[in-house]
Amino acid sequence: MKKAIINTNIVMPDYIIPGGTIVIEDGIIVDFGKKIDTAGMEIINANGGYTGPGLIDIHTHADGDTFFTDDPVKAANKILSHGITDVMPALYFSATADELVAQMALLKKAKESGEAPNIIGLYMEAPYMNPKFGCNRENNPWRFDIKKEDYMPVLEAGKDFVKVWVVAPERDGIEEFVKDAKAVDPKVRFSVGHSEAAPEQIEALMPYGLCLATHHMNATGTLQKYPECRTACVDEAALYNNSIYTELICDKVGIHVSPYLLRLVKKIKGDDRIILISDAYVDHGPIPEGDLYEGADDINFDFSGEIAGSKMILDGSCRNMMIHTGASLCQVFKYASTNPATMLGLKDRGVIKCGNVANLLTVDAEFNVKSVYLNGDKVN
Ligand SMILES: [Zn+2]
Repeated sequence: MKKAIINTNIVMPDYIIPGGTIVIEDGIIVDFGKKIDTAGMEIINANGGYTGPGLIDIHTHADGDTFFTDDPVKAANKILSHGITDVMPALYFSATADELVAQMALLKKAKESGEAPNIIGLYMEAPYMNPKFGCNRENNPWRFDIKKEDYMPVLEAGKDFVKVWVVAPERDGIEEFVKDAKAVDPKVRFSVGHSEAAPEQIEALMPYGLCLATHHMNATGTLQKYPECRTACVDEAALYNNSIYTELICDKVGIHVSPYLLRLVKKIKGDDRIILISDAYVDHGPIPEGDLYEGADDINFDFSGEIAGSKMILDGSCRNMMIHTGASLCQVFKYASTNPATMLGLKDRGVIKCGNVANLLTVDAEFNVKSVYLNGDKVN
């Protein structure tokens, strides 16, 4: 039986269809628009809410309080109820090769069981970052020379499941790693992160598929050749190269990326190269005392008082982006659905279109979640 979501403002990439209807059959969008005959269909009234494509979080370690690697089914379903219909759990470089392989197996099993239906693949914030950056630096088991025998088991274990490998292009031997990752799975993409690479080092990896900047403006260096003179580094290279997508952690206060910088990135990169992420992590350290972090209850602090990702779910990042930058609903649906889908080459989602998977999210004008649909089934 066909289903019709009626009385909804349909969020298209650059405009809204007011008073619209979306028709779903067998989990697929089969029709949408203003004048749709819904006779004989199951009717769901969206009560004037805004319906756009389900959100895609390409980079999060947790659901706000539980790691994917501790309970993938719980984490996947919690964020699904917030409209994240596709997620790439992120693994971190603090894990050893054996631990990474075990985590990959756990997440793959959760996906294949059908109990974590929104997991689409993995985001590897590992293994070869610059050991100077990131939380838990002292435990980085990958700070030594890059060696094929160390990384090949991880590459093999991630075959056809890992979608993105984050790398620090300045590390000696990274090109061999990138080539081998590509040989194992030609579809993988690379991101620059936890890095202080020079633009030339980043650009050298672009022909292999480097197309993303991991949490742009966070955990990146500022190279200096001459005293008091700024030199271009990772963030500048990400802004300079039109084809590079920039991930943004957009928290409530604007600590990861200040509101001014968010607006700068929006201005420079335009609407098609921003990808909102939640980058949630779990330490449960207290907010450091004093005024500096006042109101930062959606930031994750480790027990040394260092910022270590967020406690957000991606719908929260969307609300914050609207507040900090004045972005519209159309724009944040692009940043959190259309753009990640395009970056990943997913042609059947990320936009409301006939033939696309009916992963949908209905929100109010402030991006508060009202209803979520996964493959056409109403989740909440
Ligand atoms: Zn990170």
